[in-house]
Parts: sequence; structure tokens; C-alpha cells
Amino acid sequence: MNQEIVTIKNIYSQAMDPIYIGTGGYTIGMVDNTIVRDPITKIPKIPGSTVAGTWRYYSALELVSSVKEYQPDLKEIKSVEGKNFSEKLRKINWKNGFREENNWKGYAGNKIARIKCTGQDDLPNKNVDEIEEDTGHCGHCIVCKSFGFSKKDISSQGLIFFSDLNILFFPVFTRFGTKWVTSERLLKEAGILTSSQGKSEDKLVCYKITGEKDNNEKYINLGWMYLPYEAKEIGINLSLLENYISLNDIVIVPDHIISQIINSNLEVRTSVSIDPITGAAKEGALFTSEAIPRGTIFYGEIRVFDRSKLNEDLPSKEKIFEMLEDSKKYYETLGVGGMTTRGFGRMRILTELDEKNGGDKNEKS
Ligand SMILES: [Zn+2]
Repeated sequence: MNQEIVTIKNIYSQAMDPIYIGTGGYTIGMVDNTIVRDPITKIPKIPGSTVAGTWRYYSALELVSSVKEYQPDLKEIKSVEGKNFSEKLRKINWKNGFREENNWKGYAGNKIARIKCTGQDDLPNKNVDEIEEDTGHCGHCIVCKSFGFSKKDISSQGLIFFSDLNILFFPVFTRFGTKWVTSERLLKEAGILTSSQGKSEDKLVCYKITGEKDNNEKYINLGWMYLPYEAKEIGINLSLLENYISLNDIVIVPDHIISQIINSNLEVRTSVSIDPITGAAKEGALFTSEAIPRGTIFYGEIRVFDRSKLNEDLPSKEKIFEMLEDSKKYYETLGVGGMTTRGFGRMRILTELDEKNGGDKNEKS
């Protein structure tokens, strides 16, 4: 499979609200609604499956709202000569003078895209060419091809894979103001720890927690923990993040305590359930929820497979990245995870994802 090329992009995001991705039903200590954590490190995260599900929805939302009035009628598509449905879709024209250009929205399969191309496929037992007004996932549009679909006669696992979004910088209140806590392992995993031999302008002076108790007058509190530190120069490539966190306020803590610091500084909120009939608080309905605080910076990866040279029905990676770029704005309004109606979940994707804008790129074949 030499022609199958995978492109890997690093993505960074920042929580604009506290983010709550519930585990559904566990109680830890005083907290009723607990959040998803990495099973080994116990550090909270946003699972890749959550990212894939929301981004699929936002892509379909962006697509359908822009092409709806230009989509040809289903009857007309069916009447076109062609050996299969994909060929018919390529042959028929868009309505109302829609200009396809090279934009991802003009992809031929999008002529039957619908909002039902996201969420659970409610009609998976249809064949992919048995298109009716209501067929669950259509199996032809760029959303179905990129994120995957499963119909009776054909399944496709999709062309985009999302890693978990892991915490990279975590805001903690200290007596010196808000600081951004991270560890060497987190920086290494995100690929932004540069060698110590780097140019001096790449170096930052950080608070480095030392763990030594003697000969050190300087202490910093991270939440309730009181820890000795030294000022230490470290090579970190943070050009992308400099508008979002203060580079003079980074605290590097040892890998073995980062989880404890994050877990003891999560946002914990108490809410009350409202009885929908009386409009008053339900008795005994007070509950607490934990969440990843506003400002937290996450790091993850997106992998996109380009099989368009092997199969002309598949979208190219350029189109897929354009789709992700154009739909990422919905994270800033609709958010991710639970309790988005209670002021949780808005997130900003900081990385530019389309090819033209570059971004962190690393191509492998
Ligand atoms: Zn579709």
C-alpha cells in the first residue's frame, strides 16, 4: 500500500469553559459526577471517540447548511444513467448555479449529504445504493467517507483517526497568580520539548519543582501543595501557544506528582436538579460535578489517510483537512461533553488544519 499516505497533524485546543466528559455513574469521594481519566496516569482527558463524534456532527452541520439549497432532487439523481450511485452523483449537476470549485463542499457525494449522516445510523440495514429520502447515513458524502459508515452491503472504517486530547498545560492558582502546570513527560509526548542545546531565544525560564527540601528558600503553592522550586531554563517550542498562555508562568513538576496536582485542582461545582413540573428544586437533588477547568490546554493528534489515488470516490486529504478546519468553529459555540446547557464545554481548536496554512505537519508513507 505504497500509495496510501497518512498525514499526522498535532492539534492543540483550549477549554473556554470547564469541560465535563462524564463516565456515567461513578462516585469518587464527594463528587457524584466524575469525568473520564486515563486508566494508567489517572489524568482526566477528552477521549478520541468524543472528539470524533462531535467533529462528525459539526462537519455535517457545516456541510448541510451550506449545500442544502443546491442539492439536486433524489428522483433526478436516480434517473441519471450510470452503473452505480456514485457515478450518477458525479454526472448530475448541482442546482441553482452552485460552483463546486475545489472546495470540500463541492465533493460529488455531498449531493445527497444530510444531517442524518451523523449520530447513530438509524437504517444500517439498507444497501449503500438503496437511497431513499430517509436512509440513515448516506454512505456517499464526505462526512460518511471520512468518518466511516456501515451499511448492509458495505462498511468503511473512515479516513480520519483522532487520538485522545490529553492535558498539556493545566492552570493552577498560586500566590504568584495563575501558573501553567506541566511535566517533562507531557511536553515530550506533545513533541514541544526541544533539546537543551537549542538557540537561546527558544529557551524559557520556568519554575521547576525540585523535590529537595534543603538549601532552597523558594517555595510555590500549587493549590494546597507547597513545593520547593528553582528557576530553570528549558527549551520549549511554544510559538503556537504564546497567545493563549503566559510563557513566563510555566511550572514543570515531576512526572510522578502531575496527576495528583491536576486531580486536586479540578473544578468542582454543585448544581441542583429542577423539577420540570413545579419548576422548583427537587428534594435531595443537589449534586456535585467535577470538570477540567477553563484555560486548560490540550494536545492530541489527527491522522488522515489519503486513498483518493486508489479510489476516485474517496476524498483527498486536502478536502478532509479543509472540512475539519471549516467546522472546528462549532466547538466554540456548541462545545464538547456534557452539561453544555449549564455553561460547560466550549473549547477552541488552536491549530490551523488546512494544508495552505501549514501548522504542525509530519507526513509519513
Ligand atoms: Zn453521508
